[in-house]
Amino acid sequence: MKIIDGKATARAIKEEIKAEVDIMISAGHRNPHLAAILVGHDGGSETYVAYKIKDCKDVGFKSSLVRFEDDVAEEVLLEKIRELNNDDELDGFIVQLPLPSHINEQNVIETIDPTKDVDGFHPVNVGRTVIGLPSFVSATPNGIIELLKRYHIETSGKHCVVVGRSNIVGRPMSILMSQKSINATVTVAHSRTKDLESLCASADILIAALGAPGFIKSHMVKEGAVVIDVGTTRIPSTETKSGFRLKGDVVYEEVAPKCAFITPVPGGVGPMTRVSLLSNTLMAAKGNIYT
Ligand code: NAP
Repeated sequence: MKIIDGKATARAIKEEIKAEVDIMISAGHRNPHLAAILVGHDGGSETYVAYKIKDCKDVGFKSSLVRFEDDVAEEVLLEKIRELNNDDELDGFIVQLPLPSHINEQNVIETIDPTKDVDGFHPVNVGRTVIGLPSFVSATPNGIIELLKRYHIETSGKHCVVVGRSNIVGRPMSILMSQKSINATVTVAHSRTKDLESLCASADILIAALGAPGFIKSHMVKEGAVVIDVGTTRIPSTETKSGFRLKGDVVYEEVAPKCAFITPVPGGVGPMTRVSLLSNTLMAAKGNIYT
């Protein structure tokens, strides 16, 4: 069994990005610039945005944070997005989700200029991803594909089961795994899937993205499978400073001995999600990816 070290891989990719930024700067280009819009003061969102700002600093990107209070009117937020769309000094931006319930998330996503949509949530980017055109790909699936490539994991002709069909993880993951460059045969499972246990046990590559801690147990995993655990549920803990720890969708201790490869939680998919946003921003800074 081999542990897929997302932390070390992400660190290596950050160094590659930093080296590219250094070359861009010495060629007279300005620093790549990412902005984040944060609405309200949700603890999780504050943490994620703080990480994004730190990551930018680490690789030599400029970052900007635009804050709004919880009660911001949707139109005010949309107007700010239009302003950022037209800011030539900005390469890409994200709107941290979730948003307060009075704001329509889809309106927000669709107002972002797709060429600056480094989260890859705009339907133009999703559609382009589906038909295999250059696009910004959602960070988590993008990061998982990068891990599979860097660990030289054979995907061609393999049966991949993706558990979860969300727009940001499960669905784009299933699309990417079925692309001609990856060539897996994909089954997407969800809460209405029948006989999920034996379906999972038939997977050569099992990608668990359900957000149900400890759901995938040993009997649901084939001997020699590759297991990617996307789940990161916050569990209260007295042993950490933050008061919680992250738990994956896979019971790591019992599943790992059966696997060819497995991602731990934390330290697997999470760091790759973070670094994928940097990769997308670097792509945006290099010019229009659609042309
Ligand atoms: P989500 O929007 O809640 O989607 C969960 C999906 O799992 C849904 O499609 C749901 O089915 C399915 N599901 C839930 N319970 C199930 C069950 N018992 N059996 C079969 N399918 C089930 O979640 P998400 O945003 O995709 O995130 C999934 C997990 O990944 C969460 O733990 C999240 O925190 C984590 N995550 C981690 C990272 C990272 O960087 N590591 C990034 C993003 C997300 P239905 O569609 O039928 O409801």
